[in-house]
Amino acid sequence: MTKTLLRGAVVVPVDPALPESTTADILVENGRIARIAPGIDVDPADCDVMDLTGRILIPGLVDTHRHLWQSLFRYAGADWTIENYVHAMWGVIGPAFEPEDMYVALAVGLAEAVDAGCTQIFDWNHNHLTPEHSDAAVEAHRAAGLRSILGYGQSMTVLAEFLQKGPAGGTAMPSEDIRRLRDRYFSSDDQLTRLAMAARGGETASEAVIAAEARQARDLGIRTSIHAGNATWATVRPVLMQRRAAGLGPDITWVHCNALSDEELGLIADSGATASVSPELELHMAIGPVAIRRLLAVGVEPSLSVDTCLNIGGELFSVMRAALSSVRGEVNAERIADGTTPDTLPLSTRDVLRWATLEGARANGLDQETGTLTVGKRADIVALDARRPNLAPLSHPSGSVVMGANPSNVEMVMVDGKVLKRDFQLVNTDHVALAARAQARQHDMLDRLGVRFEEGVLRRRQ
Ligand SMILES: [Zn+2]
Repeated sequence: MTKTLLRGAVVVPVDPALPESTTADILVENGRIARIAPGIDVDPADCDVMDLTGRILIPGLVDTHRHLWQSLFRYAGADWTIENYVHAMWGVIGPAFEPEDMYVALAVGLAEAVDAGCTQIFDWNHNHLTPEHSDAAVEAHRAAGLRSILGYGQSMTVLAEFLQKGPAGGTAMPSEDIRRLRDRYFSSDDQLTRLAMAARGGETASEAVIAAEARQARDLGIRTSIHAGNATWATVRPVLMQRRAAGLGPDITWVHCNALSDEELGLIADSGATASVSPELELHMAIGPVAIRRLLAVGVEPSLSVDTCLNIGGELFSVMRAALSSVRGEVNAERIADGTTPDTLPLSTRDVLRWATLEGARANGLDQETGTLTVGKRADIVALDARRPNLAPLSHPSGSVVMGANPSNVEMVMVDGKVLKRDFQLVNTDHVALAARAQARQHDMLDRLGVRFEEGVLRRRQ
């Protein structure tokens, strides 16, 4: 059956040309949104009809930067500093990953994403130790069924060497493995899973490496994502380095941006690039003050990202709230300090919902096809049950989605017209079996390494 009718929900289209919300049906045909209107008539014999009265329909949420391979150690870093993180993940655990670990980590991370209403995700994968790891990553993405971008990065081994030796280390040039992936799996750009470059950038590479990675990305015709603005690491001025080594452009997404200079933020804006901020993670991990207001000041609306499930949950409702509370908290503190009270709010729930959908799609180069509930776009749609006690009754739908919703409200998830979650259950994913498999791989790896977690800290076994 290629037709689905989503009947009677409150639709929040997040399309700037449309009203904020309306009660309507959505007809999905051949993977696209064919009509949005009240009372659409269909023949139930050739259409899957879902009564979604009392639910809110939103565009699927978009995460523009998540290190999915780290999902195998979910919450291990809940009480880590960034130094604990670098020691454990770059120095010990990352290099020990086997291809099967990569597959299982991605499977469990992607299942969490879909379960939480994320329909599009940029997997910032910086642990491609061998071609077999890369193949395992592609296999996991394809099996998960959501719209994903495999961001091809270097391995933890290369990054750890850079950390030890500075620019004299980590000099491995981009491998030909990414070209192999392009030829073998990604010869067309109309698939659900796509390829991008997760480039090292000036904070973890020399200008020679930056130039080589940029050349390769342009040769392959793929987008690039770069971490920049990580606290003291940003003193190398990574955006200026990128400009010198390879030039800037709209095909780059800058991740974090916290400690970038005003000049660098201006260059990001002028080059038409996009940004990905991870406010919840950044506040926990000493990456620097959240850059949202400074990005807005130069005209860049950010997209949102979880970053890593080592520390925080892999869901964007919390990230939307962290974006709002960090900005409102800063402005409120300034008003209180100058003895006044705020007369307006600097940011609305509509704004951050747009960042978690349309701006995310833009950062992934997919905003013409996804990111809003608009007739003609691909059908990436999430139904939230607004009859649950945390959302009922409804009065301001965008406010309910951002301030109230959590993954337990996610009743139905559709990607490209195909239902991946229905009646609150993942379709074709046995999450209990997957959890057992992930737990076993985690234990095996810790055994191989002769380490264990003691009160969250990774220590050698005696
Ligand atoms: Zn990151």
